[in-house]
Amino acid sequence: MRYAMAIDTKKCVGCSDCVIACQLENQVPVGYCREWIVESVSGTYPHLALEFRSERCHHCAKPPCVRCCPTGASHVEEGGVVLVEPGQCIGCGACIASCPYDARYPHPEGYVDKCTFCIHRVREGKQPACVSVCPTHCLYFGDLDDPNSEVSRKVAERKHKRLKTEAGTDPQLYFLT
Ligand code: SF4
Ligand code: SF4
Ligand code: SF4
Repeated sequence: MRYAMAIDTKKCVGCSDCVIACQLENQVPVGYCREWIVESVSGTYPHLALEFRSERCHHCAKPPCVRCCPTGASHVEEGGVVLVEPGQCIGCGACIASCPYDARYPHPEGYVDKCTFCIHRVREGKQPACVSVCPTHCLYFGDLDDPNSEVSRKVAERKHKRLKTEAGTDPQLYFLT
C-alpha cells in the first residue's frame, strides 16, 4: 500500500475550494493552512502559460521531517502517510526547518501540524476533503501500489512531474502536466 495523490494541472482552475474544505474539515486555525494554491507562470511573452497547483505535504517516502524529529512525534503510518502525534510533539520546529516544501506550520496550541491526507476519512472509506469537493475533479487519491487505482492509471498515462526531487525526499504528489 502506497498512498499518493495526482493533481491535474490542466484541469485545476485555482478556485481554492480544496483549501477551504481542508480548513473546515481539519479545523485549521485562521492564518494557517495545510494546503495552498501556487500560480506559476512560464514561457516568454507572448507565449506564456499559467499553471495552478494545489499543494500540500508530499508524504515523502524518505521524509526528512521524520528523520530529524527527536521525540518520534513525526512518524510514518499505513500507506506511507506521514503524521504528527500532537501529544508527543514538543514544538521544537526541527521538522519545519527540514521540510523542503514548507508543508508544516506551528499550531497555536504548541504542536506542529500539516496535511494528513485526511487519513481519518480514508479509514472510513471516504476520499480526502480536498478531493471530495474539487469542482473540476482534478485531484486523484489512492494506492499507487495498485495498478488499477485511478491515481496509478493517471500517473501511468500522463506526463507528470514531482517537485524538488533533488532533495532526495521521494515525494508522493504527482503533478499531471
Ligand atoms: Fe484546483 Fe480543484 Fe483546488 Fe479548485 S478545488 S483549486 S480546481 S484542485
Ligand atoms: Fe515531511 Fe515535508 Fe515531506 Fe511532508 S513534504 S513528508 S512535511 S518533508
Ligand atoms: Fe518532532 Fe514536534 Fe519537533 Fe517537529 S516540532 S521535530 S514533530 S517534536
